[in-house]
Amino acid sequence: MEYSHRYHAYPTGEVAERLDHHLDVHRQLYNHVRWDYEQAPADDKPSEYDQNNKLPEWKQRWPVFSELHSKAAQATVARFHRNLSTLKKKKANGHKVGRLKRQAPTEYRSVTYNQSGFDLDEKRDHGKYAYVRFSKIGWVKIRYSRPIPDHATIKEVTFKKETTGEWFVSFGLETDDADLPTKPDVGSLNASNSVGIDLGIQNYIHTSDGKTVDWLDLEDEYERLCREQRKLSRKNHGSNNWEKQRQEVAKVKRRIQRKVLDYQHKLTTWLVNEHDAVFVEDLDVAGMLQGDGNARNKQDAAWRQLITLLEYKADLYGTHVVQVEPEGTTKECASCGVETAKPIWVREHSCPSCGFETDRDANAAMNVLQRGFAELGLGWPETTPVETVTATDTTQFESVSASHVIETGSLPS
Ligand SMILES: [Zn+2]
Repeated sequence: MEYSHRYHAYPTGEVAERLDHHLDVHRQLYNHVRWDYEQAPADDKPSEYDQNNKLPEWKQRWPVFSELHSKAAQATVARFHRNLSTLKKKKANGHKVGRLKRQAPTEYRSVTYNQSGFDLDEKRDHGKYAYVRFSKIGWVKIRYSRPIPDHATIKEVTFKKETTGEWFVSFGLETDDADLPTKPDVGSLNASNSVGIDLGIQNYIHTSDGKTVDWLDLEDEYERLCREQRKLSRKNHGSNNWEKQRQEVAKVKRRIQRKVLDYQHKLTTWLVNEHDAVFVEDLDVAGMLQGDGNARNKQDAAWRQLITLLEYKADLYGTHVVQVEPEGTTKECASCGVETAKPIWVREHSCPSCGFETDRDANAAMNVLQRGFAELGLGWPETTPVETVTATDTTQFESVSASHVIETGSLPS
């Protein structure tokens, strides 16, 4: 399987200058590849292979190109041809497309080293930071927020400068399917090694075994965002000061996204590490069922990101991750299955049919668990979660703060 890891990077001033310089030379190379392609007669367009073969000649004519690492230069040629085939596909699908444009300095933001020309040093700084060396550029410090798994092969490394001026390094990784951990036998799954997740309103998640995890506190960040946006609105649109302020706004937005992603990484890693099976609602269906609105869509996007993380970690960690039919998980009684409508503000589930009472989201999480078992052909779990959670008293739930998750990368077990 192929996947990627992305890290915030902190090059020294000197190295950042070289990164900038290489970005610019790669951009020039990209534009040259494009020019070379465009000026060839229609019936004799050069292939990626042809243009790779021209690289030595171009390096002789324009010495600036010989400053580039050869595999990185080939990756830039490959990028042009990849863009070209995307364009052709679009055209074939009936889209109106023009030609590929020249890349201006503001548009060309990343350089990829393919197969060679890079090294990774994980040992320095006790694992908190790692260092990546790009051939002909130097060592770049990265915040090593999650280690690259032992079974992964690094296929390529990309450095990127975001519009905010921040640097990132991402690794294209591959793990042989044979080296991935095998998932536990479906027959061995039960209510104690599996978990159903309700993606919450009140809590970030509520698990079928009675844990609630708080929302990440982003109040300071959102306040800051408002402040920076207000400042931006007072600047002259397009002026230097406006541009500077626009970058400030983008920086705060990115910080929020990064915090959420980091939080979701920790939660999902904990979920797949601690359980043999994780069940969650299928949001593609849920999105269609519930009304939308901007906030709703934004939250859906965040939940989708969480589920995407869960799904790829399922293979990496050898855990079953199953999405279940979301309709009625809140209405349905986890104990007897009878549906009772409840408006959003009703926080308790109290079944008029069998008398089962619990928290609204706990009931939903239990239903998700049961549907997950059904999906895997297991039928009702042997010990239903309902039997383990019986009181209405919500103090029975173990509430976990977001900061606990952030600091320890786990939940109390
Ligand atoms: Zn009931």
